[in-house]
Amino acid sequence: MNKGESKPPLVFTVDVEDWANSTLGPERPITDRFLEGLCRILSLLEEAGAKGTFFILGAAAAKFPEAARAVAAAGHDVAAHGYNHVPAYSLGRKRFREELRRVGDCLAGITGVKPRYYRAPDFGVGADSLWVLEVLAEEGYAVDSSIFPFRGRRYGIRWWPREPRNVLLAGGLSIVELPLPTFEVLGVRLPAAGGGYTRVTPYRALKAVLSAGVRGGWARVHYCHPYELDEDEISAYRHNTSLKMRFSQRLGRRGTFSKLNRMITDFKVISIKEFLNTYKINTYEPDKKAFEGAS
Ligand SMILES: [Zn+2]
Repeated sequence: MNKGESKPPLVFTVDVEDWANSTLGPERPITDRFLEGLCRILSLLEEAGAKGTFFILGAAAAKFPEAARAVAAAGHDVAAHGYNHVPAYSLGRKRFREELRRVGDCLAGITGVKPRYYRAPDFGVGADSLWVLEVLAEEGYAVDSSIFPFRGRRYGIRWWPREPRNVLLAGGLSIVELPLPTFEVLGVRLPAAGGGYTRVTPYRALKAVLSAGVRGGWARVHYCHPYELDEDEISAYRHNTSLKMRFSQRLGRRGTFSKLNRMITDFKVISIKEFLNTYKINTYEPDKKAFEGAS
């Protein structure tokens, strides 16, 4: 980038959870292994003088409250990632609302501030579960960042706007949706970065897709997990897991810290709070039918 040219903005988000518990199943115990990765990410941001948004799993915060405390003390956004690591769509409206209140109370009890931004575990807001956005708005949430706008095998909404939008809901409510980053090849949308996509993609390609087109007044959202910096976790994990799972989950962990480090240098890293204060967000009104279903 030439001297004097402004860096492209990037909303920096972190999903704070334990690998085995979030990836293999909520019945697996939450261990303290994620704390080290979290400290490294906090140090990285501190050195750069940048702020990020941390979507913290309630069950992980309940077991290790120092994680949420450290995030809040450093001035980052404390946001909610559900209480247990299960997709929002699997819960139905009533149980989802209960889970949301539980994680909200848990994080508020530790940090003194009720979270207002949310990301569903496993990007678990699909075309059939947009009612999640309604429940979030009813419960006082200002932002959701759960929708991956591509046709994925396990998640995603193919037709959802790729840019941030203020989503108009029933009853005069609204919520800002900050979708995860995608790019298009021959009209087909693909995930651009974040988590495993960041681990397996060369940095130059990541930089290109995350900077493309963002100078028109909006930023892309990047996500990572503290456990992705833990190179030895998979080989040290002694419990039953498939070889395929071990391979895919270990892939690229070695290079992740350096990619995050370069990202923080090459982009103007901001938190969701900073994003909301800086950018004008256009409205979007999905078809009403999309909100039906789920009692
Ligand atoms: Zn998660």
